[in-house]
Amino acid sequence: MRCVIVLFFLSSLVISNVSRAEDVDYDAILMKLELNISTSSMHSEELIKQLNDVWPNLTREQKTKVYMYQAVLLTYKGDYLSSNSLLVKAEKLNPSDELLNKIYQTLTTNYITLKQYSGALMLMERHLERINKINDIDIKVGSYVRLAYLALELDAYQDLREYALEAMTLSHDLDNRQHCFALLYVAVADLKQQQYQNADSSFQRSQDFCETNQLPLIALMSQKGLAEIALNTEDYQSAKGLLETVLEGYQEFNFQIEINHVNALLSQTYFHLGDFIQAETFARKVMELNDEPSHIEYKAIAAKVLSQRYLESKQYKLAYDYLESHQKYSNSILDDTKAKANAYQMAKFKHQEQAREIALLNQERRLMETQKELEQSDQVNSFMIVTILTGSIFFLSLFLFSSHRQKIRYRKLALIDRLTGVYNRGAGQDFAENEFVQVCLRDANFSVVLFDLDFFKHINDSFGHATGDWALKHVVAVIKPLIRDGDIFTRMGGEEFALFLPYSNEQAAIDIADRCKKVIEEIDSKYSGHQFKLSASFGVSSNLVDDLSLDPILKRADLALYASKHAGRNRVTVYSDDLKGMHCHKDRQSDSQKPLLS
Ligand code: GH3
Ligand code: MG
Ligand code: MG
Repeated sequence: MRCVIVLFFLSSLVISNVSRAEDVDYDAILMKLELNISTSSMHSEELIKQLNDVWPNLTREQKTKVYMYQAVLLTYKGDYLSSNSLLVKAEKLNPSDELLNKIYQTLTTNYITLKQYSGALMLMERHLERINKINDIDIKVGSYVRLAYLALELDAYQDLREYALEAMTLSHDLDNRQHCFALLYVAVADLKQQQYQNADSSFQRSQDFCETNQLPLIALMSQKGLAEIALNTEDYQSAKGLLETVLEGYQEFNFQIEINHVNALLSQTYFHLGDFIQAETFARKVMELNDEPSHIEYKAIAAKVLSQRYLESKQYKLAYDYLESHQKYSNSILDDTKAKANAYQMAKFKHQEQAREIALLNQERRLMETQKELEQSDQVNSFMIVTILTGSIFFLSLFLFSSHRQKIRYRKLALIDRLTGVYNRGAGQDFAENEFVQVCLRDANFSVVLFDLDFFKHINDSFGHATGDWALKHVVAVIKPLIRDGDIFTRMGGEEFALFLPYSNEQAAIDIADRCKKVIEEIDSKYSGHQFKLSASFGVSSNLVDDLSLDPILKRADLALYASKHAGRNRVTVYSDDLKGMHCHKDRQSDSQKPLLS
């Protein structure tokens, strides 16, 4: 499947949105560079030199592109290390999401070629973190497709399936080219995990879809997948028919890497059909290739066919020699697979370690809280305090000693809500309380916007918890761009969120709440695979001179939120004194209004 990668790698180098009116000349050169990069390295180098000569005049995005294309050229030449250092420079220029995708893609390709699988996995993880924050669906789909291809290269088939499915769902009715890639990857995941029945229908589907949408090469790859299934399930006649058609197709495009693979598969097929002459002809074509990594898998197949073929004709010496070379190639595949598996296990282990550290931190926090409670209690036995303090200090120093540096890193994780990536209630309120003190010292404004999604239970009940999670993540994603750096976005629990807004007066808070309300309403649920409407009810409150802590502001915002729910939901209510008599929003459940599902 390396072919998919090469094809993808080449096709994805064409970048859209290149031109900026005021820089027409440089952008024109960059455009030329894009067109030349995979065909003429000499011409590309000339163009890069031209751009380097006017370096100070280039914009940051243009500089990033120059670095990137230079790196791609180096990758083509096999100088992966120099390519990597240029890509790191490009990444530091803070490029757009689309460009960053390509940088990560080339970097990861370099790592994989250098067999530095841990590095490649680490990059994939970083890439994945970024994807969660991207709002543009096109870029998101592209990112998942790239991740799928990286997972395939790393033999991480479960991940391959997950990324391919994400890409497939997101690209549906949106981008036929990416959808075709995604369908192929899903089918390859089935094949690699030996789910032949599923694989058969998935390849059939990707072939049909890609053919209909004029992507003949991917349709051919799908057909090759069908042939591989036939071969694996010992239906050699069908395998032969399919492979011959596929070979013809590839020859038309002169798609050499794929032709090599089909030759290997054909030698295997003919051998099983008893046509030793044809088996030998195709195997020989493969054995003539050099020993570069992309040929190893095919040479292992061909060497085995030749060894079996000579065994049949009792040419034992030749049979033995080819068996030996088959073994050599198989061992090198095995070593590579082991290296990948090790890197993968290490990466997973790191995740487990993180989870363990977080659990420890939570324990630590609980211990501190217990300690505080004990200190505050009048009747506490002083002997108890001493014992517990000694115990906790011993525990803490041991813990600090063993993982001080990691702790700082993971402490941050313990403050973040894992689903949405915003602060969890404890952390958010703590930070807000600190900010509130600062605000009071300066006699400034502090506002709170509290909101709760409407009829969220119905979304879970009707479409499942995963769709509910999807909605929560999207709500956070659309609101994040609306708030300032110093604002504190917090998940208060379930589907309730707070925006703590230091130095914002009531009107500013109302404006933000209105904008949040609007973007939530505008979320298009179709990308979750279901059709429903989202909305939220908001409560706004700002600090009064008598407020000594955050608590009273939060309580007032809560009452205002309740008033919004009561008045029919999907609205913003600002606290006013006539809401004083209302009950806390926790009693809202009995409300009997119908949900807004469509
Ligand atoms: P209302 O308009 O009155 O707020 O109605 P509601 O259905 O939103 O409120 P209710 O409190 O009855 O239901 C909240 C639901 O949110 C119930 C719970 O299962 C769901 N929920 C809480 N946390 C999560 C989560 O992390 N993921 C998902 N999918 N659902 C969650
Ligand atoms: Mg709700
Ligand atoms: Mg709620």
